[in-house]
Amino acid sequence: MGIIQSKNVVLLGMLLKSELFTNYDIRFFPIFITKMKLFTPLILFALFLFFSCGEPTAAIDESLEDTEEISSDVMEEKDEGKTEIKVSADFLRGKFAPEQHEDFVEISTKYASREGMYLQREVYEAFKQMYEVAKKEGISLEIRSATRNFDAQKRIWENKWLGKRPSAGVNAMETYPDPVDRANNILLYSSMPGTSRHHWGTDIDLNSFDNSWFAEGEGLKLYNWMLENASNFGFCQPYTELGEDRPTGYQEEKWHWSYLPLAVSYTQAAKKLLRNEDISGFMGAETAIEIGIVENYVLGINPVCK
Ligand SMILES: [Zn+2]
Repeated sequence: MGIIQSKNVVLLGMLLKSELFTNYDIRFFPIFITKMKLFTPLILFALFLFFSCGEPTAAIDESLEDTEEISSDVMEEKDEGKTEIKVSADFLRGKFAPEQHEDFVEISTKYASREGMYLQREVYEAFKQMYEVAKKEGISLEIRSATRNFDAQKRIWENKWLGKRPSAGVNAMETYPDPVDRANNILLYSSMPGTSRHHWGTDIDLNSFDNSWFAEGEGLKLYNWMLENASNFGFCQPYTELGEDRPTGYQEEKWHWSYLPLAVSYTQAAKKLLRNEDISGFMGAETAIEIGIVENYVLGINPVCK
């Protein structure tokens, strides 16, 4: 789009600079009129090309994927021609208050382990349907964590960074004096502020934060039920076992589920709008570039969830 447009500008510029427009002296008026007649269709065609390509820069053309041409930090996507989803980099980075956001609702304690958790309305409706069907089949789903904005994630991250809270079973500050090593340790299970899927209001953690709970008994039954049924309600497990299909990112999290009808758009938006150098505002943020936080973590998800 940009290239075509700039070609048109050149074409129009050439026409404007041509003798057609410089010979405006009244003595040459008959010649001017004659030339106008000859050139009018050409000028009209050039004008048509020029204006037909003048769409807003924020509109996304799929052909621009993986290019550096998008300067706007706002993106609009059509979801199967129905819902128009507007995504800003600030939204993706969790720079908002869910309790004040019109698309977010508080989760009833019927479904959650505590008060004060939020989800996007559409995600909540889908979860409630899944909850009821699961319940009839003897599965008791409980939301342990939902939306966490930038500030909430920053508290978690910095407590681990300073060793106030254990990270993967160790005091990260004492064990890893090197900033990149320390960040990599925290990243086993926690996201850097600004890069978490929990910012989006589409992701939930269910029942237990321990993979071993899901390996037997009630937990295994619940996990198997989710593997078989969650996709019927739009949910997908983004952090599956690391391996060939998912070479980079967080360790496996059997508790973390993502609502794809919204999250797929956000993942695509994150690919285009989030830059490692823009991840900032917390201790250790300078490691984001070396770690490649966007490509390796934000996009390091189960390919089925993309
Ligand atoms: Zn989670």
